Amino acid sequence: MKIPVVSVLGFFVAASAALAGVPDPQWLGHDRDRPQPVVVTPGSFSSQEQPGTPPSDATVLFDGKDLTPWVAMDGSRTKWVVKDGALECVPGSGYVRTLQSFGDCQFHVEWATPTPVKGNSQGRGNSGVFFGFNRYEIQVLDSYENKTYADGSAASIYGQYPPLVNASRPPGQWQTYDMIWIAPRFDEEGKLLSKARVTVIHNGVLVQNNVEFTGPDPWIGRPPYKVHPERLPIAFQDHGNPVRFRNIWVRELGHNRHKEFMLPDALLDSYAGDYPRGPSDTIKVRRLPDGLLSLAFAGAEVIMHADSPTHFHADSPTDVQCTFDLTGPTKKISVTVGE
Ligand code: MG
Repeated sequence: MKIPVVSVLGFFVAASAALAGVPDPQWLGHDRDRPQPVVVTPGSFSSQEQPGTPPSDATVLFDGKDLTPWVAMDGSRTKWVVKDGALECVPGSGYVRTLQSFGDCQFHVEWATPTPVKGNSQGRGNSGVFFGFNRYEIQVLDSYENKTYADGSAASIYGQYPPLVNASRPPGQWQTYDMIWIAPRFDEEGKLLSKARVTVIHNGVLVQNNVEFTGPDPWIGRPPYKVHPERLPIAFQDHGNPVRFRNIWVRELGHNRHKEFMLPDALLDSYAGDYPRGPSDTIKVRRLPDGLLSLAFAGAEVIMHADSPTHFHADSPTDVQCTFDLTGPTKKISVTVGE
């Protein structure tokens, strides 16, 4: 029987669609050997009076008291303050960011804009949640009966996409953002492989549904993507309004091998320089953007990520690690290379 070309094509389209729907072809349906999901104790929901609790596997970024996960953008001590169990922006003090870096993640934060209300449009209760250090902003704004341009209102992807609906609570009340952040991916030459995506649920209402950023979203313009590390700190904006934040936690998706940190600029500066390696070789350490170091020795150069204040590891697939020791009269580095 001669099968018409159209139906052969149709078969392949249907087959590939079916394959795409197979969760994982190495397991049978109802396979008893398939590993069980990790048990996570869920948290509790917040009320206006009381913040809820995070899930058991979350990294807690703010528990109402401890400010140590947060630093200024250059890694120095932040001037934001803890007041009445909230992390509060001090106008003019600059953005605040996490010391730790995160890639794809589930992120929860609660925020309240100032009351009594001052200002209007973008001048009223303005802050922002930034992924990718300072690149990708989801707007925080008092959008309760406060008209502004749609793509600058609360829960907008700033300057790109308004929220699907305005789910804002009045100023002074606690509001929640639950977000799923998928970092953009770049290849080794720095070419964009996939765009950044975000899902945002504002006060329990879906407002951004797996939306792709066109690129970074600064105050003005839509610049193209530029290569950066997959994992970077999460930041909040200082836009001159004392916006408050509480109950902040993150669940990073994947990346089980190492934590990553963007260490303070001053510390990274102190690691840069030349270190002797035997009688005829030198290890050259220099700073790269986004908290990275480069290590050049034995004719090779590798990019290093911090996983503690003194220890760094290379980008996979190379297993190079190094530890700095600045406690003695001369600074030292020890390097291990995987075989
Ligand atoms: Mg903002």
